[in-house]
Amino acid sequence: MQIQNYLRMKIYILFGAPGAGKGTQAAMLAQKYKLLHWSTGDMLRAEVKSGSPLGKEIDSLISVGKLVNDQLISQMVIQKIIEHKAVEGIILDGFPRTLAQAQILHQALEKEHLKIEKVINLEVNHEEVIQRILLRGSTSNRADDQDESTIRQRLQVYETQTKPLIDYYQHQKTLINIEGMGSIEDIFNRITPHF
Ligand code: AMP
Repeated sequence: MQIQNYLRMKIYILFGAPGAGKGTQAAMLAQKYKLLHWSTGDMLRAEVKSGSPLGKEIDSLISVGKLVNDQLISQMVIQKIIEHKAVEGIILDGFPRTLAQAQILHQALEKEHLKIEKVINLEVNHEEVIQRILLRGSTSNRADDQDESTIRQRLQVYETQTKPLIDYYQHQKTLINIEGMGSIEDIFNRITPHF
């Protein structure tokens, strides 16, 4: 029986450096295609806001531009996927960010008979993302968006730990490269044909 196939939750990943526009585009795509949008950065900031001991630990990493533990963030996301298996689809924004996370996700999805539809890779150069993050930092209260050395640290983490995922997903034939420079609307129009 193929029922499972057409009822299966669709999983999209918005990929790219910090400031590449993942959150903006994911929110627009979620609205247009009636998908859920989950940002791991938002999930972690909610935990920080709760003031829990775990939140304090997370805060000490986020504020210096380091990644939180692979197991911790992967379990948070996988738990949420399992709880929402009946929904039509989700967009993951900011996850996975390391090869270990991608592998944990892959194994968990296989167990649930789910798979990633597409990984949308937003390509933006570093100078542009630094300008975008500083602009965002001027209107948000995100400390990690306001300090240039923290931003550079996040970009360094992206280069060494996250960027290798491009090859990984290329290999899995799910990767779509999108030119991430230009207006929000133009970028959106480059992505939608892939949905
Ligand atoms: P973002 O809002 O996606 O820019 O994420 C803000 C911060 O949250 C990052 O700099 C990391 O410290 C942390 N974070 C978000 N997503 C992840 C993830 N998938 N793995 C590890 N840390 C993450």
